[in-house]
Amino acid sequence: MGNKSVLVVGGGMSGITAAVEAAEAGCEVFLVEKNSYLGGKVSQINQYFPKMCPPNCGLEINYQRIKKNPKINVLTLAEVESISGEEGNFEATINLKPRYVNENCTGCNKCVEACPAERDDEFNLGLSKTKAIYLAHPFAFPMKYAIDADACQGDSCGKCVEACEYNAIDLKMESKPMKVNVGSIIWATGWKSYDISKLSNYGGGRFVNVISNIAMERMAALTGPNEGKILRPSDKSEPKNIAFVQCAGSRDENHLKTCSSVCCMATLKHVNYVREQYPDANITIYFMDIRAMGKHEDYYQKVIDEKDVNLIKGKPSEIKEVPETNNLLVLAENQFTQEIETLEYDMVVLATGMEPATAEVKVPAELNYDVDGFVIAGPPTPGIYAAGCTRKPGDVATSVQDATAAVLRAIQSTVRR
Ligand SMILES: Cc1cc2nc3c(=O)[nH]c(=O)nc-3n(C[C@H](O)[C@H](O)[C@H](O)COP(=O)(O)OP(=O)(O)OC[C@H]3O[C@@H](n4cnc5c(N)ncnc54)[C@H](O)[C@@H]3O)c2cc1C
Repeated sequence: MGNKSVLVVGGGMSGITAAVEAAEAGCEVFLVEKNSYLGGKVSQINQYFPKMCPPNCGLEINYQRIKKNPKINVLTLAEVESISGEEGNFEATINLKPRYVNENCTGCNKCVEACPAERDDEFNLGLSKTKAIYLAHPFAFPMKYAIDADACQGDSCGKCVEACEYNAIDLKMESKPMKVNVGSIIWATGWKSYDISKLSNYGGGRFVNVISNIAMERMAALTGPNEGKILRPSDKSEPKNIAFVQCAGSRDENHLKTCSSVCCMATLKHVNYVREQYPDANITIYFMDIRAMGKHEDYYQKVIDEKDVNLIKGKPSEIKEVPETNNLLVLAENQFTQEIETLEYDMVVLATGMEPATAEVKVPAELNYDVDGFVIAGPPTPGIYAAGCTRKPGDVATSVQDATAAVLRAIQSTVRR
C-alpha cells in the first residue's frame, strides 16, 4: 500500500506549494523550515512582478490553506539531519531547534520591550537591529516570537520571562530530534543571494554604498530598515545618482555559471522603486543583455523609456570607493561607444544572482548536482525530488509550477511500494 506521507524540506513558495498540494490530495505532510517563519525569500521582497503586489498577496492564501488542513505538520527552526530507507519507505531524522517561546504566545510584544539585548536583523540583511527576542517580520507565519540564543543573555537576565503575562517563554527549551516515516521527499531549500564578498573587483562587501538587489528589496519595503525609504547606507542621505550592475557574479565561470533569469526584471522593478521616491534621480543600468521574457517586454520598454534612465552595454570591470564621500567609481567599457569610462555614483546596486542553498548544504542522500549546486533532475535516489529554485533559478510562477510537478511525482512514489 505504501506510505502516504510526504516530507517537504524548505518552507518558501515552492515548499509551501508542495505541502499544500500534497495535503489537499490526501497525504500527511511534514513541512520542515529552518527559519522561525515560512515564506522564504518571497516574504523579503517588497513587491513582486508580474502584478507588483506585496508578498502577502500570494503567501496569505497559502497560510490559510495550511491553517485549515490538519494533514500539514509545520516544523519551523528545523533541519533534516539524515535520511535512510527507500522510495515508499524513508525514515528522516529532523533536528528541532528551540524557539524558547511556546504556543501561549499572543504576539503582544511586551517581551521585546523588556529585552535589553540586540542582534543584527537577518530578515533585513543586517541593515537594522532587533532585540534578542524577536518576531522576524510583522506578517510572520506562524505569528510567534523566537529567541536568538547567541544574542540572549539567558537566565542571568530573564526580563522577557518577567514581562510575559502568558507564561510563553521557556529559556530551558533544548534541541530535540524527531523521526518521521514518509513515502517520498521533496527538497525545496531554494536559494541565497550570491555572496558579495566573493566579488572582490566590486569591493568584496567593503564599500558600504554597494548593496545587493535583495538588500534593495528590503530597503524599499515599509517593513524594512528605513520604513520604506531608499537611503544611502553610509550617511542615510537620499541617493541622486544610482547605478545598477547586472550579472554581478552570474554568467561568469569564476562565480555562478547560470543566468538567474529574474535579475533583469528585478532591476527594472528597482528602477521603479527609485523613481517613485526620487523622480529626478539619474539611473544607469550596466548590462550584457536584458532578459525580460514574454510579456515582461512591455514592462522593460516602459522603464527604459522613462527620463534619466541610461543603459550602458558593458560589464563593469571594477568598482572603487572615493573615501571622502563613500561615492563609487564604476569602470566599464561602453560597448555602444567603444570607450572605457569611469563614472561616479552615490550608490550602486549589484544584481547578484541566485545560488542554490544546496551549493552549501547538500541533501543527505545520493543526488546529482550541476556546477553551481542545483540538483539535477532524474535523481539517483528514487522518491526524492527537487523543486523550485533547488532545481533551477526562476520566478515565483515558475517555482510554483515546478513544485506542483514535483508533488505529482512524490504522490506516485508514496503508492509505488
Ligand atoms: C532580487 C530578487 C527579486 C525577485 N523578485 C521577484 C518578483 O518580483 N517576482 C517573482 O516572481 N520572483 C522574484 N524573485 C524570485 C523569487 O524570489 C523566487 O522565485 C522564489 O524565492 C522561489 O521560491 P523557493 O521556495 O524555490 O525558494 P526560497 O524562497 O529561497 O525558499 C526556500 C526556503 O527553504 C528554507 N531552507 C533553506 N535551507 C534549508 C534547510 N537546510 N532546511 C530547511 N529549510 C531550508 C529557506 O529558509 C526558505 O524558507 C526575485 C529574486 C531576486 C533575487
